[in-house]
Amino acid sequence: MSFTIEFNDDKLTERIYDPYNGVDKTDSLGMSFVDFLSLGKDLSKKHHIYFQLLENHDMYITDSSFFYVNIKEFIDICIKDTSLYTLDNFLFFLHLQGLSIPQHNLKYYFDQDMIIEDLVTPYMKISTMERAIRGFANSNKSKNTITYVYTCDSIEDICVATLYHLIRLKTIIKKCANCGKYFVPLLRSDAIYCNRTSPFNPTKTCKEDGSQRTFEEKLKMNDAEKLRRSIYQTLQMRVRRNPTDEAHKNYFEKWKKDVARWKKDIKKGKKTTEEFIQWLLESKKK
Ligand SMILES: [Zn+2]
Repeated sequence: MSFTIEFNDDKLTERIYDPYNGVDKTDSLGMSFVDFLSLGKDLSKKHHIYFQLLENHDMYITDSSFFYVNIKEFIDICIKDTSLYTLDNFLFFLHLQGLSIPQHNLKYYFDQDMIIEDLVTPYMKISTMERAIRGFANSNKSKNTITYVYTCDSIEDICVATLYHLIRLKTIIKKCANCGKYFVPLLRSDAIYCNRTSPFNPTKTCKEDGSQRTFEEKLKMNDAEKLRRSIYQTLQMRVRRNPTDEAHKNYFEKWKKDVARWKKDIKKGKKTTEEFIQWLLESKKK
């Protein structure tokens, strides 16, 4: 059975509709797709809405499925170099995968309360049709909406439809700097955090928590840098005062190499700034 995904570019929403399986869910545009991409191994839990749309359990996608691995790689390549995020490249990607864009059509929702005949002067001698068209042209169209409805038969279809729609809207996909999940920065393309709940603080969103954590991390790094400088000077002074003491000299050289390694490890996320400060304090005592 087919289901649909409908995009509203004015309200920036998507609606997944499948009356056969009792699914009717509206979310922010692109949300279900980026959540799906972010699941990885958690796909096996089959909690995602896409799994409610399918009858055939054998068709379930896992994190090692050909399609899942490839569409994720395509998006990662485009995140790395946004100049590659084009309709041309996407169509070529679909060609390589043997996929195509699902059937879609445009839907126009008119404001039901709109009375267009009153918007044309009654003294004009025109046909009913012309009166209606002229009335519509004069009407306030802010309550009318155009949506795009894609008819899908599979998870591949709904992913392809969403990505195609996002590319046509020139809306990029990013990775959140706080939780690492994919997200669509709908309102600000320079956003670096998503609006999900932060994995580090359940009372805050990534946007609230991420900037706070970056700020605190900077303060901590400043503290560590001050401490490093002061210990450096102490050790250097000790070597200068005892020019014949090889042990002091060797310790200072080793200490400098260790500091460089700590900095590399923090950058890679292997060690924290707190651990570095702790190590610096210990290294001072020796
Ligand atoms: Zn996030």
